[in-house]
Amino acid sequence: MNQLQLINELIELDQNHFLHPTSSIKQQQEEGPAAIFTEGKGIYVTDLSGKTYIEGMSSLWNVHVGYGRKELAETARAQMEKLAFSNCFSTFSNEPAIRLAKKIADMTPGDLQAVFFTSGGSEANDTAYKLAQYYWKLKGFPNKTKIISRKQAYHGLAVGSTSATGISAFHTMTPSPSPEFIHIDPFSAEELEQVIQQEGEEHIAAFIAEPVQGAGGVHIPPPDYLENVRKICDKYNVLMIADEVITGFGRTGKMFACEHWNVVPDFMLFAKGVTSGYMPLGGVVIRQPIHEDLKELAKGTLLHGFTYSGHPVSCAVGLHNIDIIEEEKLVENSRTAGEEMKYHLQQIQDEIPYVGDVRSLGLIGGLEIMKNPETNERFTEKISPLIVKEARNRGLILRNVVFEEADTIVFAPPLIIQGEEIMTLFSILKDSILAVLNH
Ligand code: PMP
Repeated sequence: MNQLQLINELIELDQNHFLHPTSSIKQQQEEGPAAIFTEGKGIYVTDLSGKTYIEGMSSLWNVHVGYGRKELAETARAQMEKLAFSNCFSTFSNEPAIRLAKKIADMTPGDLQAVFFTSGGSEANDTAYKLAQYYWKLKGFPNKTKIISRKQAYHGLAVGSTSATGISAFHTMTPSPSPEFIHIDPFSAEELEQVIQQEGEEHIAAFIAEPVQGAGGVHIPPPDYLENVRKICDKYNVLMIADEVITGFGRTGKMFACEHWNVVPDFMLFAKGVTSGYMPLGGVVIRQPIHEDLKELAKGTLLHGFTYSGHPVSCAVGLHNIDIIEEEKLVENSRTAGEEMKYHLQQIQDEIPYVGDVRSLGLIGGLEIMKNPETNERFTEKISPLIVKEARNRGLILRNVVFEEADTIVFAPPLIIQGEEIMTLFSILKDSILAVLNH
């Protein structure tokens, strides 16, 4: 079979048998997969046709240490040979899970101390809501069940996390988001306080926020927002949950984004960068006083968990991945490369009249396409998907966000990205914007 036959065979099999996550079934049937990837090295991925791309999104904001790390493959192989799997239900345990829990407790800010492992971010979210509700029940407040979330938020697509997600497009598959979830303005601490007062603090279990909103279009909060949120949560006995699934492990130029604002949440959620995507893993870290309360009050079985909670191979890979992030100083690189990224973004904004707001923190950023940034006028059609497609043709993978008003291009390259590569990324981006808007 030659290469072309192989490509055609895989396209047909994909269309007949593979239901993709968050994708257009119609487009899949009409166009087939946009690319069938086969290899990765550093910040680059290659598809079946041999075309190489800069992975400007670290795939799904997660391949922090870049592709082709043989040492992570070696760790996975060694762990698989030794103990491929062992469950952590009841009181079974395994060394990689224990060591990774301790490592995460040490590296997360403040007194965050005990880890519940999941397979990914959606499960981490559902775990956090259940733990928050369970916690208040144990403390004698069974009516503290509601979760306040934010508009534009993305927390995953399991049933609970779909409800917490504040992008209404994601609510179309289900009858409606659960009434236990309330969505407020993403950057108004005042509204948080008002809603807690309206609902009554005796009904609110937790408030959840991404410190930097990711999938909603990369939105960085005003300087004192998270600090104010922390104070309000304390004032009304509401648990504060920080969803660091995208922002954790160096993405924003700090190990965890909460550190930019010196805020310690009650629960911190992680996934993605914990293994750089080399194995699936996520989790919830809880603060010491909450852990102490649980130890004292939870007499029966904690009836929550997943087969892969504490997967030994995922945890071994996670530990090694974190070593790489630390040893190669990738958080520092995220900061310095992030400054370069800011410079290029500014250049693009100065030079192209259709680029409105630009924003970034470390190695996560976004830019807004507008017909007239002065008057905030938008194009009648969304332009960012055309630019993202153009960039892909030119060898750069980016992502667009087109919910409601937004016409945004977002990027989050691997944390290993260096000067030359950043220049190439932004020159392709700039050329792609110009090619689409000037034609
Ligand atoms: N929370 C946030 C902030 C996310 O960005 C995501 C995924 N992009 C999730 C949760 C869900 O994670 P997963 O897709 O691993 O379930």
